[in-house]
Amino acid sequence: MASGEWGCGCGADCFTLDEDGFTCRKVLDAPEVWRVELLMHDTFLPSVNAFVLRDGADALVVDAGTSDDFNDTRLMRALLGLGVDPERTTLFCTHAHMDHAGLARELAEAGVRVVIPEGVLGDMRLLAVPAWRDEMVARMRAEGVSEAESAELADVIWDHAVNFETEKIAFSTVRAGDVLRCGRWGLEVVPTPGHTPGQCALWEPRSRTAFLGDAVLFLCSTCIGFWHEGDDPIGEQVATLGRLAEMGVEHAFLGHGLQEGSVSERCLANAAHHGRRSSRALAAIRETPGRTGYDLVPAMGWRAPFDRWSETPALTRWFLVSESIAHLDHLVATGAARREPHASGVHRYFAAE
Ligand SMILES: [Zn+2]
Ligand SMILES: [Zn+2]
Repeated sequence: MASGEWGCGCGADCFTLDEDGFTCRKVLDAPEVWRVELLMHDTFLPSVNAFVLRDGADALVVDAGTSDDFNDTRLMRALLGLGVDPERTTLFCTHAHMDHAGLARELAEAGVRVVIPEGVLGDMRLLAVPAWRDEMVARMRAEGVSEAESAELADVIWDHAVNFETEKIAFSTVRAGDVLRCGRWGLEVVPTPGHTPGQCALWEPRSRTAFLGDAVLFLCSTCIGFWHEGDDPIGEQVATLGRLAEMGVEHAFLGHGLQEGSVSERCLANAAHHGRRSSRALAAIRETPGRTGYDLVPAMGWRAPFDRWSETPALTRWFLVSESIAHLDHLVATGAARREPHASGVHRYFAAE
């Protein structure tokens, strides 16, 4: 084949999607699962996965990658290469983030049936609306982030969720516990709240195969940001990790990167990691009672250059600030710390006893 053509060069059960080396590769025989690796150009993660489960003429696509100029038609080329009939194909999005739902329109317009869990629709209505941007700003202001930085951080993240309703992408919903069918296989919709409130996995019990979205990753700890004040996303995530550890997952297909070893061990290690971070936050509150959330961010043990905070990219600062606030929410929700109002409008933190 002439150079510059795609479709070859990566061995059996694999084909390239373009000249850049992106591939569609078979990663499991039963059920038959293919991994389509798509580019992520705007975060620290190198790529995002879409998976295609195929049985006879039916196909199920799990997650739809990022819609950007770099990916253009890579996912459609993968489906073409696999000989999948869009009319016999369902797209399921594990959560509403842009890197998992970004190419849904392209698939829908080709005739693919788009399905999301009710929880993901709830996330779209919560996270992909201008009111959420304003709520994020108000929340960061109350934690002591300056007005300018609160606006900067909210603006860098708030449109990272996709809203199928406002985008007018046709879809239907499924509930927790529903079973999505693809040929002989039935995949159960399993809630995995934490990374977002409504995220769901798909679970095929006979082969012990799970499509986990961003519920757990081997590349890094899944990022957990704050939700509404009074919610406990870290607590939800730790509970999700505990449930996943018990499920007996053998084949895990993740939003980013690959499974590297035992899912159960990874879940327990990641839960312990969150526990250590919360403990550090509590120790910092005890050390200097009455600090603000923003003051406490550098005390939580992040590997980040706090001496050059202003030079740190806004997206990185957002992840650090929002996950720090989520840990403070966890301490408050579990009764380990108190958040007290202050005349300045910025809350102060105290250890419970
Ligand atoms: Zn995500
Ligand atoms: Zn992701």
